[in-house]
Amino acid sequence: MKVLKFGGTSVGSPQRMKDVSKLITEDGQQKLVVLSAMSGTTNSLVEIAQYLYCGNKAGADDVINRLREKYYAHVPELLSGKTYQNKVQKFLEEKFNYLQSFPKENFTEKEEKIILAQGELISTFMVTCYLQEQGIKTALLPALEFMKTGRDGEPDMKYISNKIDEKLKEVPGMQIYITQGYICLNTDGNIDNLQRGGSDYTASIIGAAIKAEEIQIWTDIDGIHNNDPRLVDNTRPVRHLHFEEAAELAYFGAKILHPTCIQPAKAANIPVRLLNTMEPSAPGTVINNQSDPGRIAAVAAKDNITAIKIKSSRMLLAYGFLRKVFEIFETYRTSIDMICTSEVGVSVSIDNTRHLNEIVNELKQYGTVTVDSNMCIVCVVGDMVWENLGFESRALKALADIPIRMISYGGSNYNISFLVKESDKKLALQRLSDVLFNGKK
Ligand code: ASP
Ligand code: MG
Repeated sequence: MKVLKFGGTSVGSPQRMKDVSKLITEDGQQKLVVLSAMSGTTNSLVEIAQYLYCGNKAGADDVINRLREKYYAHVPELLSGKTYQNKVQKFLEEKFNYLQSFPKENFTEKEEKIILAQGELISTFMVTCYLQEQGIKTALLPALEFMKTGRDGEPDMKYISNKIDEKLKEVPGMQIYITQGYICLNTDGNIDNLQRGGSDYTASIIGAAIKAEEIQIWTDIDGIHNNDPRLVDNTRPVRHLHFEEAAELAYFGAKILHPTCIQPAKAANIPVRLLNTMEPSAPGTVINNQSDPGRIAAVAAKDNITAIKIKSSRMLLAYGFLRKVFEIFETYRTSIDMICTSEVGVSVSIDNTRHLNEIVNELKQYGTVTVDSNMCIVCVVGDMVWENLGFESRALKALADIPIRMISYGGSNYNISFLVKESDKKLALQRLSDVLFNGKK
């Protein structure tokens, strides 16, 4: 069975819900479908919780009432017969009364998580009812009955696997199984979630748990390109990526796939296919454990990077120097992205400058510190196994006219990164595209 995930915009209106229903039922094959909340809903639920945290019940009620009106209007648009209209109307009334019942006193994270879960509970109920009204054999599998995180906050794969099998056996022979993305129970048995955007993660976890044939992530954005089409001419869609390549690209804000989604699918060796609801027949991008020998997949960039250099003759022949440097970053919960070392100095890059001053002050006890702001990481992702000849030199040659602050190569088999000035980003991306993908010298 395939697992398909549709995000908030893909179920963002009754019409979109109908489009998704058509898309998942057309070929008549059995599927497990993970849905997000309708777009905007989770944000509204966050707002409701914020009002309740500060004891402003009227503020919360305002947001609830606006949301209620919006959802009530969806009912006759989505469903044509009285039976299902009444069923959904009643469900919505219960849900909105429930939301309204939270008192402003003693509002804690526990109540917040319950509120945040309502978006997915509603969207999945609506789509299930629509499919049933259309005569499609559809069952709603409540995620809160099988999605569970362990003590470490990570999904409890064994529990999930067993439970979901049980749940599927309770309702055999359905064409479509619908479930909620994002929401789960934690070890205390309370409602929790897999963080914002976590529906991709749900799909990946379920795919791994049921050993799905494929996990499909459907969005309404154009898939992964080999370079940024907003900045560079002549980009092409990327049809295949290794999981590691996808992980490298995820950091660069390739919005299409939530980074956490990669791990469960990779571990269970289940391919993930990224598809576009606007262009359902396009092949999309497949991510799996196969590499394309000798191929460069994509170039991506990330702005707002700060480089910090610590130069010290004390580093020469010393051990433990790097640990001391890293501990300072750890103290300030600032993660390091790129790192380059020489015998007498080390340069690192960070993208979170909240504690830059404190970090720089502490680093000064170990050497001379210089900071370069407004930098940009440009990264080339592909089969970069070190035995391959020529990739590094081609990439470097492409950047021959651009000042490069740092180069990182050899950290993985799939990546080479350059740190350049943000003002050189566009040129760097265009040059890499020309030389690596479009055959220019
Ligand atoms: N509805 C949740 C959010 O907006 C989860 C998701 O869409 O993946 O973050
Ligand atoms: Mg979403």
